[in-house]
Amino acid sequence: AGKLFQFKLVLLGESAVGKSSLVLRFVKDQFDDYRESTIGAAFLTQTICLDDATTVKFEIWDTAGQERYKSLAPMYYRNANCAVVVYDITQSSSLDKAKSWVKELQRQADPNIVIALAGNKSDLSARRVVETESPAVPRGSEQDWIDAKPYADEAGLLFFETSAKTATNVNELFTSIDKTISSQ
Ligand code: GDP
Ligand code: MG
Repeated sequence: AGKLFQFKLVLLGESAVGKSSLVLRFVKDQFDDYRESTIGAAFLTQTICLDDATTVKFEIWDTAGQERYKSLAPMYYRNANCAVVVYDITQSSSLDKAKSWVKELQRQADPNIVIALAGNKSDLSARRVVETESPAVPRGSEQDWIDAKPYADEAGLLFFETSAKTATNVNELFTSIDKTISSQ
């Protein structure tokens, strides 16, 4: 008989970065340009076969990013095995927000929680303001740009740039979380 893992996963991040869209892509392989924003939190499940012998059932809590629901977040990340903290590569403030969620998780959540940072909307590369890595040639003052990958490495996070719209790296993100947790 194969192994069945059950993971509780929570999505956190600023409003409109694409948390619900990433879940919709992962669970239903769909995308919707005009999504209604999440109120409170939504619950979904998805089962994936990692290999012939291993099945993973994700219980996904998709939270609302709005400040007014912030006090509810601990309810969702308490007992979570994994968290996906999402920012939007076209909004630098959303990376700041993501960093503050990571800090909160590292202080308050289960010490074994696996945290992935997802830089979403990678299809909007023309409007990118958050860089992946520093380019070889510096571009002016430090304040002009922010690099996500060095931050993720430093903070011990899994890191992917994703697009819920084109599906780029969405399965890779969730599969890498599976592999990390099931090898813990
Ligand atoms: P949430 O508030 O974080 O759950 O964000 P939503 O999933 O509701 O998405 C907010 C808006 O961004 C919606 O209009 C989505 O269609 C759009 N969106 C989400 N993901 C992507 C993406 O990867 N690329 C693009 N271009 N738009 C996206
Ligand atoms: Mg949402």
